[in-house]
Amino acid sequence: MKVAVFSTKSYDREFLEKLNAKFKHDLSFFEVPLNRHTASLANGFKGVCVFVNDKVDPETIEILHYSGVEVIVLRCAGFNNVDLKTSAEKNMKVYRVPAYSPNSIAEHALALILTLNRKTHKAFNRIRENNFSLDHLLGFNLHKKVVGVIGTGMIGSVFADIMLGLGCEVIAHDIEESSGLKEKGVKYISLEELLKISDIISLHCPLTPETHHLINKEAFSMMKKGVMLINTSRGAVIDTKEAIRALKSQKLGYLGIDVYEQEESLFFRDLSEQIVSDDLIARLMSFPNVLITAHQGFFTEEAMTQIAKVTLQNISDFEAGRMNENLIGG
Ligand code: NAD
Repeated sequence: MKVAVFSTKSYDREFLEKLNAKFKHDLSFFEVPLNRHTASLANGFKGVCVFVNDKVDPETIEILHYSGVEVIVLRCAGFNNVDLKTSAEKNMKVYRVPAYSPNSIAEHALALILTLNRKTHKAFNRIRENNFSLDHLLGFNLHKKVVGVIGTGMIGSVFADIMLGLGCEVIAHDIEESSGLKEKGVKYISLEELLKISDIISLHCPLTPETHHLINKEAFSMMKKGVMLINTSRGAVIDTKEAIRALKSQKLGYLGIDVYEQEESLFFRDLSEQIVSDDLIARLMSFPNVLITAHQGFFTEEAMTQIAKVTLQNISDFEAGRMNENLIGG
C-alpha cells in the first residue's frame, strides 16, 4: 500500500525499511511533520504514518480525506494529537502501536531518577576537567523511599515493578486498579494522598481532558518539600509555569522530564545554531536540579523494531480488511 511517512528521521527510515523487506509496502518518507500546511503532500497516498508531534487536527483530516487518504497509522502509543471525532466522520481508520516496549519508557524514567539523584551527568563533566571533588554531588538512597505512580497501565506497571525491585514503597493512583500490582504490595490511594506522601512522583497516564494540567498549582501545593517529579507521559500533564514556580520556591526538589508542553517546536531536531524563543524551556534549563531529555523514552533497539513491525502489520491488516485490536478509530 502507498503510505506517506511524516516526521521521518534517519532512524525511523532505517527501522521501517529493514522490516518492510517482508511487508513490501510502498513507503515515501517526508521529513516535515504532518499538519494542515503539509497535508497536501499526502495526495495520492492511501495512508499516512505519523508520530507524536504531528498535528492531525480537523483541518488536516479534511485535507487528507480530500486527498484520498483512508487510514492514519500512528507509530506511537499516545493518540492525543489525532482528532478521532473528525476522522470517524470522514470514515477514516486510525491505528496505533499500543505496547511496543513498556520497559523502554519505564527504564528511561529510572534513568532520569538516578541521574537527578546521583548527579552522574555532573560527575562525568567534572572529571573530564580534572575536578575529582564530591561537593554538591550528594544523593539519597532509593531504598525505602515512597514512590507515587500516577497511571498504572503498561508503562506504569513496569515502572512500579522496577521501583519495588529497588526496595521502594510503591503507592499508586489510577482510575482502574491493577490486581497484579496490588498482589505485589502496591497500595492504591487517592491522588491527593499520593501527592502528599510521595518522595518521588512519576507520571504514566495518557494526556486527556481530565489529565491536562493534572499537576497544577494546587497539586504542587500538596506535595512534600523537595519532592522529585518525573514525567515520561505527555508534557501537558504538567502545568509548566507552575512547575517553574515550584522550582523557584524549592517546593520541587528535582524535575526530570522526557516530554514538554510545547515540545512540537523543539524536540527531535538539532537547533544548536538557532535562537530558541521558548522562554519557559530556557528557564527550565537554567535550574541545576532539572533534567530534560527530548522524548527519547521509546528510543531503544527493541522498541524501534517493535514499532516498525506493528506499524507495518497495521497497514497490512487495514489493506486486507482484517480486524485488529490496534484500531482506535473509524
Ligand atoms: P496505558 O493505556 O497502558 O496506561 C495508562 C494508564 O493511565 C491506564 O491504567 C489508565 O487507566 C490510567 N489513567 C487514565 N486516565 C487517568 C487519570 N485521569 N488519572 C490516573 N490514571 C489515569 O498506557 P501506557 O502504554 O502505559 O502509556 C502511558 C503514556 O505514556 C501514554 O499515553 C503516552 O502518553 C506515554 N508514552 C510516552 C513515551 C515516551 O517516549 N516518553 C512512549 C510511549 C508512551
